[in-house]
Amino acid sequence: MAPKTSRAPLLSRRSVLKKGVAAVGSGAVALVSGDTAHAAQAAGQQTSNVVGQTFRAFVRHGSAASVEALRLLPIGGRQVVVRTQASQCCYTITAQALATTPAMPALVPGHGGVGIVEAIGPLVKRVQVGDRVLVCDTPQCGECYNCLRGRAYRCQSHLRNPTVPYAEMADGTPVHQNGNHGSFGEVMVPYEEYCVAISTDVSPAELSLLTCTGATGLSTTMSFAPVEPGSSVVVFGAGPVGLSAIQGARIMGATQIIAVEPIRYRREVALKVGATTVLDPNVDGDNLVKKIQDLCKGPTTADRRFSGFRDGVPGTIDIGPDFVIECSGGDLFPPKAEAGPDPTGKLALRQAWDVAPAGGDLFTVAVGQRGDISFPANNWSNRGRTHHAGQLGGLSMKRDLPRYVRLIERGLFDAKSLATATYPLDRTREAFQVTADRTTIAAVVVFG
Ligand SMILES: [Zn+2]
Ligand SMILES: [Zn+2]
Repeated sequence: MAPKTSRAPLLSRRSVLKKGVAAVGSGAVALVSGDTAHAAQAAGQQTSNVVGQTFRAFVRHGSAASVEALRLLPIGGRQVVVRTQASQCCYTITAQALATTPAMPALVPGHGGVGIVEAIGPLVKRVQVGDRVLVCDTPQCGECYNCLRGRAYRCQSHLRNPTVPYAEMADGTPVHQNGNHGSFGEVMVPYEEYCVAISTDVSPAELSLLTCTGATGLSTTMSFAPVEPGSSVVVFGAGPVGLSAIQGARIMGATQIIAVEPIRYRREVALKVGATTVLDPNVDGDNLVKKIQDLCKGPTTADRRFSGFRDGVPGTIDIGPDFVIECSGGDLFPPKAEAGPDPTGKLALRQAWDVAPAGGDLFTVAVGQRGDISFPANNWSNRGRTHHAGQLGGLSMKRDLPRYVRLIERGLFDAKSLATATYPLDRTREAFQVTADRTTIAAVVVFG
């Protein structure tokens, strides 16, 4: 579906505040009730044709989850009303969406989505009505301490945003959004710092991957501590995050990319999108670390040194891949595809640590692990492994997401091979079920 290209006339924040209402373009009106004193002041005489509208959403309520008709409540001054085009089913929220967690107040799940801005609060400066936006799972406010020191992936704006209901069910039950940006509804209402305006005709399903999983993998290999050309990389886990990390490593010019994945069809996709070798952890078992180290030895003989020679005996920490990326995580549900060797996720973390050589870079970006893990104190202390651990792979969303859109447009990031199953809103539960079962790579709900 082509993006909406018509733009509403520019409207300055000052004029909005002066008028107390936002009259934007042909009938598209932004507004407002105050969740802040500013918003209340700006709102003045409230006028809106979006507040009160009804829309459908997949709602987790009590110990059930179903598609419900909701009524939109007044929005805050910094909030944005987005007409959703697509939303990706992130494994992280499968338990919440499938209602296997303890009963909770009504909430629309979400870990990012793509859509068109339909209305804005009077304090919004980042986007305009008519913009196509990526609503990212992690914000970048540009003002908090972590944003200012270049660590936007730990933006703290969410700690200050009021968590208020954005809609109500037919019986008046208030409905919240997961993380204040529930994307499994025809309308989502994020704060503006979650939004990045983009200009592209890439399909909604492909773009939706850039709001969490795909962006995580790409950021891990391209932005956090970028993979160097000609280097060797091992990626544990070939789900949507790992398959994106593999592609990021390929784009950056890695010449050896080893994927470790128990599920056969995922190993095949890994080879298709850039892995040079795939390994099954169930087959290699205790020999996995040594096998990866053997693959990364490079040309060395007893009597000849080549430039950049690598020495060391497999089984020690002196040899291994330059970049080690752990994307597998723990099982939230028993998979219906091939299960890995450790549902807690601890084994993959330990193997990733063990295979990272002295002087190498280790990235851990997966979630869902259970239990504790320990490392030899002396090796942990001073053997020169650099450990990067970050939300969304260290993403700086305002900087990185437009770049990643260009990578899809140029055919460098193959998002189509990852968005393997699309569903309408009415089948959202099914989309989350196949995500939990790991029988598809990435399930995406596409809105009509
Ligand atoms: Zn996610
Ligand atoms: Zn911030």
